[in-house]
Amino acid sequence: MLFREPRCLPVIWLDDRLVPESEASVSYSDRGYYFGDGIYEVFRVYGGHLYEADAHYDRLERSAREIGLGLPYARTEIDDILRLLLEREHVQNGTVYMQVTRGVAPRSHPFPADAKPVMLAYCSDAARPIHMMQTGISAVTRPDIRWLRCDLKTLNLLGSVLAKQEAADQGAGDVILHRDGIVTECSASNLMIVKDGAVLTHPADHLILHGITRAVVLRLAGEQGIHARERAFTLEELRAADEAFLTGTTMEIVPIVQIDGLPVGVGEPGPVTRRLQQSFEATIPS
Ligand SMILES: *Cc1c(COP(=O)(O)O)cnc(C)c1O
Repeated sequence: MLFREPRCLPVIWLDDRLVPESEASVSYSDRGYYFGDGIYEVFRVYGGHLYEADAHYDRLERSAREIGLGLPYARTEIDDILRLLLEREHVQNGTVYMQVTRGVAPRSHPFPADAKPVMLAYCSDAARPIHMMQTGISAVTRPDIRWLRCDLKTLNLLGSVLAKQEAADQGAGDVILHRDGIVTECSASNLMIVKDGAVLTHPADHLILHGITRAVVLRLAGEQGIHARERAFTLEELRAADEAFLTGTTMEIVPIVQIDGLPVGVGEPGPVTRRLQQSFEATIPS
């Protein structure tokens, strides 16, 4: 053999089997394609292991239940599939993306009688966003035009896509969404602010996605003796905050140092954000 490791095309899981990426295609009649009728999860992989796997499976099962979708496999089977992908692709530090749609059926809004849910999953290498975590990013505020079940991680992401594009058009790193002046979250991550040493974040109700990183950070704040409250806050409170940061699976904890062109606090990542970043880092298996 001329080559050592046959590093072939990435394999992905699609509809009951592992296939090379080049052979992975879906039906034009998949309801994910027509309606965004499905759910997804993004997992972090550190040192070859899925981080907070149980929390992700719990959320996946809840999203499925709430949209009346039967998952095609049991939790342990999904876990086996994701681990198989990680092994096959030799991913040590990266992400796993997975989604389940309601399946293939002629286009009609009500649930089809006999469609079989289709699962897609693949993993990728992804470094931790060290630079962003150290220097922070800018954000712009925009109205939250999404629907009223933002607690479900569904494939309907147009509200987030449009908001994130507006941020990108303005050269901002992310967008902070608000409903009539009440701040909810970012386009694909949760938002926390710090005022007088205390952390504030929107309650985990139907208006935000119940982030797993958010929950980890709230727990760490408790352990660190940092006062943290789940309470809705206004754009005015956001603008008067000493610190702001976003939380998410791939981003971990990223400081927001500028909002709508104005500095947050002194315009640099703040001490509470730094402490939480350090405690988060300590939860990452090496
Ligand atoms: C996934 C997501 C988050 C972050 O959740 P994590 O579990 O921490 O990754 C926050 N907001 C939205 C809209 C999301 O889709």
